[in-house]
Amino acid sequence: MGLHEQYGLTHVINARGPFTPLGVSRSDPRVADATAQALGGFFVMEEVQNLACRVLAEATGAPAATVVHCTSSAITLAVAASMTGSSPERIAALPNTAGMPTRVVLPAGHAVHYGHPLVQDIRLAGATPVLAGTEEGCTPEGLEKELAHPDTACLLLVSSRLVRGAPVPLPDAVAAAHRRGVPVVVDGAAQDFRIAELLATGADLVLVSGQKYLGSPTAGVVLGGVGPVTAVRAQEKGIGRAMKAGKEAVLGVLAALQVRRDTDLGAWQRAQTDKAARFVERAGALPGIRAALASDPTGLPFPRASLRVDADAALDAASLARALRAGAPAIWVMDHRQDEGELLLELVPLTEEEIDVVLDRLGKLLG
Ligand SMILES: *Cc1c(COP(=O)(O)O)cnc(C)c1O
Repeated sequence: MGLHEQYGLTHVINARGPFTPLGVSRSDPRVADATAQALGGFFVMEEVQNLACRVLAEATGAPAATVVHCTSSAITLAVAASMTGSSPERIAALPNTAGMPTRVVLPAGHAVHYGHPLVQDIRLAGATPVLAGTEEGCTPEGLEKELAHPDTACLLLVSSRLVRGAPVPLPDAVAAAHRRGVPVVVDGAAQDFRIAELLATGADLVLVSGQKYLGSPTAGVVLGGVGPVTAVRAQEKGIGRAMKAGKEAVLGVLAALQVRRDTDLGAWQRAQTDKAARFVERAGALPGIRAALASDPTGLPFPRASLRVDADAALDAASLARALRAGAPAIWVMDHRQDEGELLLELVPLTEEEIDVVLDRLGKLLG
């Protein structure tokens, strides 16, 4: 008997991507295995983190790395590190920031909401978020103006499909901050496929989620220079205690990384494209649906299925999404464009059986 039956939990088909309220991702059995082994033993955690630093650095090309509880905590700890450096007194004082630089500048469109507002991660360290530009965009001058302030702790940039307004070129923003001696943190929570590109922006710290596409237990991976990463690790003696990664998370990340390295990414990408194309072909035959492949706006290496719901369809897009969720199993899709009549489905973690269930349900609902 599985956990769903044992506890009477809702069966879910997750076509919504690595969505935290649905348990985010499916881990490979090799990751589950490593995690189970970790849970059964004792370890010198310092040794485990040193190992993670070496392995992650070697795999990504970043000089250093560490693992914390999640990306949300990685943001708080990266901000804390930019205020305290490795000073034990400052680390012990947080969230009291007396005598420290406290302004954290971010383009207004990067103040994303991923279930809670990102600016709260900044405030949790005791810092003050300062929005540059407007929701519509942030010009280089708008950014310069805020970076020029002497009390600036760091620049925070976000790489996510949730970012709003005209795109801010990350390498240019990083260069602008560095001209002022301001360190830069990039939140790339769901961008573990694009780590090399994010590190190439020159950012001092790049943060990615272990549990999103990488498929580890919940973890935040912090990559960057030796100094900034050391300052993040040093928070363990301060506010970081509440944001630590357990042994199963750190060793789970290393297992997930090994799975990723053992994967032929070209073949994986072709398989994902085929899977989505087959879905689109079958969904496009349903009454009132126009289906197409949709690429990810941030450049993730797989397409999603876009379903445009015609005006004469049995249900509009929002009602269709609601009806899919209401059934058993509950089917969750991306509904952020439902008011424009479009639903998006991310099929990456879905089995062929689950895809059949989705298409069957769509067929029944659309008549
Ligand atoms: C998911 C997400 C986070 C938070 O990641 P967790 O690992 O769940 O804490 C932060 N920023 C963005 C842009 C996200 O998408």
